[in-house]
Amino acid sequence: MNVLMIYPEFPDTFWGFKHALKFIDKKAGNPPLGLITIAAMLPENWQKRLVDLNIEPLTEDAISWADMVMVSAMVVQRDSTHEVIARCKAAGKTVIAGGPIFTGEYEDFPLVDHFILNEGEITLPLFLKDWEQGTPQRIYQTSEFADMSTTPAPMWELLNLKEYATMCLQFSRGCPFDCEFCNITAMLGHRPRTKSAQQLITELDNLYALGWRDAIFLVDDNFIGNKKIIKQELLPALIEWRKEKNGIPFNTEASINLADDPELMDLMTKAGFNTVFIGIETPNDNSLIECNKKQNRNRDLVESVNTIQRAGMMVQGGFIVGFDSDTETIFEQQANFISKAGITTAMIGLLQAPSGTRLYKRLLGEGRLLGEMTGDNSDGSTNIIPHLDIDFLKSGYSKLVKQLYQPKEYYRRCLMLLKTIKTPEIRRGIDLSYIRAFFRSIYLLGFKGVERLEYWKLFFWTLLNKPKLFPTAITLAIYGYHFRTLANRI
Ligand code: SF4
Repeated sequence: MNVLMIYPEFPDTFWGFKHALKFIDKKAGNPPLGLITIAAMLPENWQKRLVDLNIEPLTEDAISWADMVMVSAMVVQRDSTHEVIARCKAAGKTVIAGGPIFTGEYEDFPLVDHFILNEGEITLPLFLKDWEQGTPQRIYQTSEFADMSTTPAPMWELLNLKEYATMCLQFSRGCPFDCEFCNITAMLGHRPRTKSAQQLITELDNLYALGWRDAIFLVDDNFIGNKKIIKQELLPALIEWRKEKNGIPFNTEASINLADDPELMDLMTKAGFNTVFIGIETPNDNSLIECNKKQNRNRDLVESVNTIQRAGMMVQGGFIVGFDSDTETIFEQQANFISKAGITTAMIGLLQAPSGTRLYKRLLGEGRLLGEMTGDNSDGSTNIIPHLDIDFLKSGYSKLVKQLYQPKEYYRRCLMLLKTIKTPEIRRGIDLSYIRAFFRSIYLLGFKGVERLEYWKLFFWTLLNKPKLFPTAITLAIYGYHFRTLANRI
């Protein structure tokens, strides 16, 4: 059996970092972790091949090689997913599909032969058994959650590692909180389930043995969802692992209550975490009540962000405008907050309702849904009818994003962050692609860019005051170029 695994193309998005990747000669930010994990669950004697459309085109040769095609995608890859499926079906191939977009909207993909929905650890074996007996069903679904101690290590060998900026690993799924708009908990539940620390160390060893030395993103829904296991098992194991293999920085996603636990932050920075994405959403308390973001309430959010920065981790923030409780001053409130907190990477989007969420059901009941969302959190689109006038919301949104990423304001936040943040303990090796990125940044941003003045100010301030953070400063300058390019297009 020849199985062709296909990962559809992403549009140009905030997290795609397309405009930054060209500085380091990489083609994609993250690999298709779901597909390479599914590959490890397929029978050993099946031949597997992966085509990530973000890295290479899908050729007729690859399609004709396949007996079976497996596609996985997120909502934001919808357009490319439809194209891929149509091409493979036109070539007479059996198409199997799984992943978030299909779990949420499988009815919209009539060409797919078999759906492996929800968690693959549970549904894939059912399909394989039926397939072997010649009686495969069209849809495999489950409302149960997988035991992650049975999840195999991903088949990294299917990837062309050097084309990616970051590798992904997953330690846990699920989040104990209950934000109204969250499709993660709708799909993966509230009880955080984890792998064992040894499973993750084995995965890291595999990656290291393949030569990977760059950043690793732990794509957990909320890394600190089960603090006990993280503090007592995983982080001590990572700290031990790093003694021999310092140099790989980690980043992840967590909730703001990370700021309340100095021991946890200390362990994370010692384990090599230098960046954490946090859903801050809004400084408007009424909107936090509305979306049930309890963990963000009754605290000084700016201080919480600064506490994490002082501990040694950059905070990337997710923000939303367009809650029912937002008033016309929301754009000013958001700009002031982001500015004051020194958040350089601020992903801002209009409120959207992902299918399966409590928000989706509520708005459906209120007759305020406008179809499915694009899945791009920061393209200025929405699939809901907001309380604020939609034109007002869209123009306010566009101005907010442009204002935050214009050079003077963006570089001011970069400087603020570099002044606040504790220098991380990671010692990274010198890589040729980073040297090239450095010279490209000098040419494109320092000489040709509209941010010339701000670039050199950041350059020399960091060199003179915090030289160990110099690579971080250049990285932030390159990120800024990406964010500004996108902002100008909205
Ligand atoms: S904290 Fe994040 S992952 Fe958890 S429910 Fe809220 S939005 Fe979802």
